[in-house]
Amino acid sequence: MDAKALSAWLREFARLVAENKDDLTALDSAIGDGDHGTNMDRGLTAVVAALDAEPPETPSALFKKVGMTLISKVGGAGGPLYGTAFLRMAAAADSVLDGPGFAKVLRAGLDGVVARGKAAPGDKTMLDALVPAVEALDSALAAGASFPAALRDAAAAADRGREATIPLVARKGRASYLGERSAGHADPGATSVTLLLRAAESTLGA
Ligand code: ADP
Ligand code: MG
Ligand code: MG
Repeated sequence: MDAKALSAWLREFARLVAENKDDLTALDSAIGDGDHGTNMDRGLTAVVAALDAEPPETPSALFKKVGMTLISKVGGAGGPLYGTAFLRMAAAADSVLDGPGFAKVLRAGLDGVVARGKAAPGDKTMLDALVPAVEALDSALAAGASFPAALRDAAAAADRGREATIPLVARKGRASYLGERSAGHADPGATSVTLLLRAAESTLGA
């Protein structure tokens, strides 16, 4: 996978976020401040504009541009957390990514989210979808699965992780201010992570 293929992934992520903007915002209205859909859409619209203006030539340059754009255009928690993930991905990316290289990059992004947000699985955050996705990707590749099949597993694991946030009580982010009342709704950030993985499956795994 080169910068062009990876750009197609992130453009598809932007498209899915735009398509699901109202759903993401409704989830964030239930347990946060109702801006996750508009935040992510604003940031990713700026990302697509930046990619159109000057297509990056390497995966690393692409991820850096995405990370910097998200950090500069999106306030709140979600944008900077995603932005940090992409900056870490930039640092971990080789000039062309094979399946294991992509898995390494995604894990570096996950480590960035942990470093910045200090959350753990079970805290009802984006990590509850991202951690199982990265683990599923690694274990499928280690078991000899094809890259498309591994991406399918990762996307399915993200979906299950997101579903599993529904009964959780939030321990990080704004939703934690609600205490027990945060239970009963899926986490918005975990939901946007499922879109990131679904976009990977349909573009990089096609
Ligand atoms: P804000 O909460 O500042 O309005 P968003 O609504 O864009 O920002 O993003 C909220 C999402 O950010 C949450 O649903 C959660 O998934 C994620 N999040 C919040 N705090 C953390 C954290 N410390 N670590 C990981 N993810 C977090
Ligand atoms: Mg919010
Ligand atoms: Mg906010």
